[in-house]
Amino acid sequence: MLRLVLLSLLLLMIAPLHAAERLNVVASFSILADFVRNVGGDRINLTTLVGADGDVHVYTPAPSDAKRIADAKLVIVNGLGLEGWLPRLVQSAGSKAMVVTASSGIAPLKLGSNADPHAWQSVPDAKIYVANIGKALAAAAPDDADGFRSRTRAYLDKLDALDREVRDALAKIPAEKRRVISTHNAFGYFAAEYGIQFIAPLGVSTETEPSARDIAAIITQLRTQKIPAVFLENISDDRLIRRIAAETGAKVGGTLISDGLTGEKGPAPTYIDMVRHNIKALTSALDQ
Ligand SMILES: [Zn+2]
Repeated sequence: MLRLVLLSLLLLMIAPLHAAERLNVVASFSILADFVRNVGGDRINLTTLVGADGDVHVYTPAPSDAKRIADAKLVIVNGLGLEGWLPRLVQSAGSKAMVVTASSGIAPLKLGSNADPHAWQSVPDAKIYVANIGKALAAAAPDDADGFRSRTRAYLDKLDALDREVRDALAKIPAEKRRVISTHNAFGYFAAEYGIQFIAPLGVSTETEPSARDIAAIITQLRTQKIPAVFLENISDDRLIRRIAAETGAKVGGTLISDGLTGEKGPAPTYIDMVRHNIKALTSALDQ
């Protein structure tokens, strides 16, 4: 009898400790981290490798990242070739974490000869990311699965509302005006989903200084195709595109945010803020 009482006491002491254990999750970059935060709430410890304003394409992992990955139970990645630096990091950390590809199930678009990684720019695709993250968290921490599922549903409802917001806003722009030039080709999924044409400047690399011939080609392209607006990005040099706008009369539409969130004081501290920011920039440039 005494033994039974002691055992019960012991179980009572262990149970709350066990329930209080939070899942260690690593997200590769800020947009995924926002999805994970919305699903995981305060039942996870979340680490983001490429934080606000960082460039996930060219990230060089810090030694501290290996430690963070070694401690993680889940590593959430975009996939589609975005995090080329990650497999080596996971291997060198000797991590037993499960790597979860959030874009799993999305039909990949092409960017040149590779997969286009920027699927999060389509809100319906972002919902696939969130559903995948919800399932992975629930499987990794069954005690918290109900909470993760209800948080997933609540966030998916918000994304449904956001998707309607995007469609309503773009519906006000005349169909023939839904065309823009952008230097960084990150809006393929957005374009396919919402019927806006994103046109890359012809023959211009975003990595090298364009030649006089490049500039002439773009000016011709803007004039002959009657493209009403050009857009900049938070990670591209904007001097070239401003000059082109000045010479053609096309409207410079501000900055579209593609590959990472901003800090709290910036225009896009969350994914929903980012999409709203981009929609505002697009509609104010095209709804002339
Ligand atoms: Zn990108």
